Amino acid sequence: MSGSPLLSVKDLVKHYPVRGKGLIPRTTGQVHAVCGVSFDLDRGETLGLVGESGCGKSTTGRAVLNLRPPTSGTVLFDGRDLAAAGAAEMRRLRQRMQIVFQDPYASLDPRMTVSDAIAEPLRIHDTYRQEGPERVRELLATVGLNPEHGNRYPHEFSGGQRQRVGIARALAMRPELIVLDEPVSALDVSIQAGVVNLLQDLQEQLGLAYLFVAHDLSVVRHIAHRVAVMYLGRVVEIGDRDELFDRPAHPYTQALISAIPLPDPRLERVRARERIVIGGDVPSPASPPSGCRFRTRCPKFTMLTEGEQALCVEQAPELIDRGHGHPAACHYAAVV
Ligand code: ADP
Ligand code: MG
Repeated sequence: MSGSPLLSVKDLVKHYPVRGKGLIPRTTGQVHAVCGVSFDLDRGETLGLVGESGCGKSTTGRAVLNLRPPTSGTVLFDGRDLAAAGAAEMRRLRQRMQIVFQDPYASLDPRMTVSDAIAEPLRIHDTYRQEGPERVRELLATVGLNPEHGNRYPHEFSGGQRQRVGIARALAMRPELIVLDEPVSALDVSIQAGVVNLLQDLQEQLGLAYLFVAHDLSVVRHIAHRVAVMYLGRVVEIGDRDELFDRPAHPYTQALISAIPLPDPRLERVRARERIVIGGDVPSPASPPSGCRFRTRCPKFTMLTEGEQALCVEQAPELIDRGHGHPAACHYAAVV
């Protein structure tokens, strides 16, 4: 299957039922968590998936791993449709794709030594007997931990070290793809860089593909080759990292980028005046706005004539290139 992407997500939709509070709970509506998301990911590549909390990033990540079957749409891994894979095949495929969660403390069993936590996937897939403790020691060393400390418990490690244990566990089955769901969001800024650098080194050594979920654009700018920006269940812009940061086409991306603080305080003061502020709250995904979902908070929308606004209200913009060199879902992206 060389030449085809490692991962291909097409028109992914995920709705969650909203249940009423009555004696016999009935489904009273649907949360439109993910609404038609498409993207490809190549071997050895990092796609950053960014957006505010609740926009559907984790739901997308879980659907990619087939942890929760999507409402509709397809996920192809190495050309295989996950929905069509039987239990035995899914078991084999699952070894090739792993996930690292935001909070390593919640995902590690406090009563298990870190060696046992790392060995668990090997035991589940029945390779522990062949590879044994030597593989666990090797994995600890690979993520920059002392192999002698394998008999310790998660609480004896710092947050950054615990996340390294989570990464070692994800690496145990020699995957090709890792979904990293906000892997450094819970860590101190001073610790984040070490973990991000480790992930980059591992990618180089092992040829891993990453779907890197984050709400922090500065981390994504550092690690991603391409970036997809999500808003309320949809990808509103996708493109090469530098191009997207240098020439953001969607008003939402423009606002997110303008909100990244600059390290130089003088530049930061100038920048603060130019910051694009998005007003209001994110609408509920149970009843998203008609047409363009971003229009209720869009700074550009307020500058349009009523006639122009009608298009935003009535028609959902397609994700197409309107002259920026990469696709964005804004009717007026080309109007600068
Ligand atoms: P993100 O990771 O970007 O913060 P999520 O994918 O976790 O977003 O959630 C997207 C939307 O789906 C949110 O509105 C969230 O409340 C809702 N949601 C997530 N998981 C469930 C679930 N199991 N049941 C019902 N609603 C859910
Ligand atoms: Mg999430």
